[in-house]
Formats: sequence, structure tokens, C-alpha cells
Amino acid sequence: MHGVLWKIHKTHHQHTKGYFELNDLFTLLFGGIAIVLIFLGVESLDYRFWIGCGISGYGTVYFILHDVLIHKRLKWLGRPSGRYMKAVAKAHRDHHKTKDCDGAVSFGLLIVPRKYYREEGK
Ligand SMILES: [Zn+2]
Ligand SMILES: [Zn+2]
Repeated sequence: MHGVLWKIHKTHHQHTKGYFELNDLFTLLFGGIAIVLIFLGVESLDYRFWIGCGISGYGTVYFILHDVLIHKRLKWLGRPSGRYMKAVAKAHRDHHKTKDCDGAVSFGLLIVPRKYYREEGK
């Protein structure tokens, strides 16, 4: 995302106005790939079906953590609580500290560097 796809992903770092951002295209892209794979593999329940399920599962977890809990695009849930969720939210806040392609940190959403757990203790 912070390489060749920056043109699309930067709309998530430099959000101006409106509900949707160009970065949401990734949701449609990965969702579309998952649907096609599930559709192609559903009869024989082969690897395509399970890869499609995996993409869907990751997408669902990512959506709830990133869009609902961290960015509050949907007001379904309150503030993140629990040690893991607080560390995830803090790491992602650091990821958003830069509005540029370079200098961003904490790229993985679900796997958080240890320091974010340590800082939680203060
Ligand atoms: Zn980013
Ligand atoms: Zn974000």
C-alpha cells in the first residue's frame, strides 16, 4: 500500500471530506476476489473455496477492528478495551501519524510490536 498502491491508499491518510475514500476500493477488490474464488470452488470444495473463505474471514476481522473499532466509521461499538485491542489501536494511530508515503510505521494491523503493549502499562 505504501508502494505502487500509494495513489489509492493515500486517501486513507489524507482524508478530506465525505464518507467514502478511494482506499475503500481495496475492500471491493479483495471482496470481489473472495466471491469469485468461493464461487469457483464451492462445488468441489477445493483450495479456491478455502482461500476465498480465508480472505473473507480476514476481511471481516479487519473491517471490525479497523473501520468499526479504530476509525469509528460505524458507531456499532464503543472504545476499544482490553490489552490487545488498545495496543492495536495505538499502533494504528502511529501508522496514521504520517500523511506521506514514506515514514509510516506499524503496517500490520493484527500483529502489534511489543512496545505498544508495554506503553499500555503506563
Ligand atoms: Zn497506510
Ligand atoms: Zn486506518
